[in-house]
Amino acid sequence: MSTYRTLWNLSGSPPVPRNLVWFRSDLRIADNSALHAATSPAPDAGVLGVFVISPGEWTAHDVAPARVDLILRSLRVLSGDLAARNIPLLIVTAHTPRDVPKVLGELAQRYRVSALYFNREYEVNEARRDHLVCTAFAGLGIDCTPFDDRVVLAPGSVRTLDDRPYTVFTPFKKRWFAVLSDHGGVRVLRAPKDQSPTGVMPSEIPASVEGFLSPVDPSLWPAGEHEAIKRLRRFAASRLDRYKSDRDHPAIDGTSVLSPYLACGAVSPRQCLLAALQANDGLIDSGGPGPVQWISELVWREFYTHIVQAFPRVCKHRAFKPETDRIAWRESPRDFDAWCRGDTGVPIVDAAMRQLNTTGWMHNRLRMIVAMYLTKDLFIDWRMGERYFMRNLVDGYLASNNGGWQWSASTGTDAAPYFRIFNPVSQGRTYDAQGLFIRRFVPELAGLDDDAIHDPPSLVRARLGYSGVIADHASARARVMKAFKALNAEARVPRAPDRTQS
Ligand SMILES: Cc1cc2nc3c(=O)[nH]c(=O)nc-3n(C[C@H](O)[C@H](O)[C@H](O)COP(=O)(O)OP(=O)(O)OC[C@H]3O[C@@H](n4cnc5c(N)ncnc54)[C@H](O)[C@@H]3O)c2cc1C
Repeated sequence: MSTYRTLWNLSGSPPVPRNLVWFRSDLRIADNSALHAATSPAPDAGVLGVFVISPGEWTAHDVAPARVDLILRSLRVLSGDLAARNIPLLIVTAHTPRDVPKVLGELAQRYRVSALYFNREYEVNEARRDHLVCTAFAGLGIDCTPFDDRVVLAPGSVRTLDDRPYTVFTPFKKRWFAVLSDHGGVRVLRAPKDQSPTGVMPSEIPASVEGFLSPVDPSLWPAGEHEAIKRLRRFAASRLDRYKSDRDHPAIDGTSVLSPYLACGAVSPRQCLLAALQANDGLIDSGGPGPVQWISELVWREFYTHIVQAFPRVCKHRAFKPETDRIAWRESPRDFDAWCRGDTGVPIVDAAMRQLNTTGWMHNRLRMIVAMYLTKDLFIDWRMGERYFMRNLVDGYLASNNGGWQWSASTGTDAAPYFRIFNPVSQGRTYDAQGLFIRRFVPELAGLDDDAIHDPPSLVRARLGYSGVIADHASARARVMKAFKALNAEARVPRAPDRTQS
């Protein structure tokens, strides 16, 4: 016990109240609600930061090694930024989520903390963990103050006129704009000023955590909020204007690629929204088509986060539309493995999966194509794809991942209707017309012309060592139609009108 106590006694200073900021998915110092509140009161209140490394929680939640690697490297940047303001970042380990209250409680006592500040996470287990921590801290006489910071508008604050959560995106977005306007628009918080020295040394950040060795080249994902802000500024200055026309073409550098930084909180959604508004003369739903579309995508992230909080079943591997949990998905480890490897014989699907496997990231259009392909063409349970994505994405975020998967599988809120099934070859021809993206990730097809590259003839495939197709789209489509129609026929009572929209 205590380096701190020794230093404090040596310096002879009186005990100061100490605020503890628990960092989780908010690894930045600017526009961080919890950090801002903890550093705002009496200037002589010492402030400490803490991050809990929890390998058990990461495993249980399928956190990808690439994501863990980005988190650890982001912590290093955060620790330096905090130290420059006299806020030491402490790193502790809790092997399972159950250990977190005890580990944090011990640390709080050791450093004589008087208050804990953190930004809420809305997933079921995370919310339960936070509740246990607050209960344990109440027992220790330490105040806990949580903030809503992961989204622009707190889950629960955007509801229908009859006070229900929205389940359809467009009316949600309309109401979201209205609530934001009622709140006076978007504001970002400054990074904290220098704090009183605490005499506590920051912890060393481990280079890696056992069991989470990233297969992805870390130079693809430089860490930290300076990098995130640089990317945001560059995107807003040079690509935002063309976003609407470029965003669906994976061979074009047309999107922000900020999702890994939003997932670990190196940048906030408010900072993103503000940058878009600044580029659009302050307009939110009119003005340039690029900024308007980009803002809409940010609101999709908000929508899915609100869904997670309002419908916790989606965190528990349950379909948003409960009746679709009766679908008897196919079990085919061989086809699933081929999909994972990028070896289905459909060039755009294989290119996309190889992009994920080598970079930890996949373009949004491709996420829709491969998710639709797994759930419709291969008729494999969306939960398997959802898990594979989480285990490999550097930007894995339960709300958006689950939302995207259930959208593609037609089991989710505001999902693709089951009869609108992407033809993956046509998708490739439309969104990667010259096969530029396919050529990059499926080099064995690089020499084919713009037409053949999307569906090479059998003899050509054999010559190039490229797989034959593992699923026939037309018969797969018929199988899906039959399964979903059977569900509808099974429904005994007519469905009540959906009163959640207004
Ligand atoms: C099957 C599937 C799985 C997905 N899994 C994830 C995931 O684990 N993590 C994740 O962040 N996104 C996920 N998405 C959403 C989307 O594909 C990514 O957010 C986007 O591709 C990230 O690239 P970007 O940062 O360049 O996005 P941009 O096009 O620049 O958009 C800006 C930001 O808006 C948000 N956004 C954009 N599109 C969506 C969307 N459709 N749904 C929700 N938010 C969106 C993201 O935070 C993104 O960073 C998934 C989509 C699908 C269809």
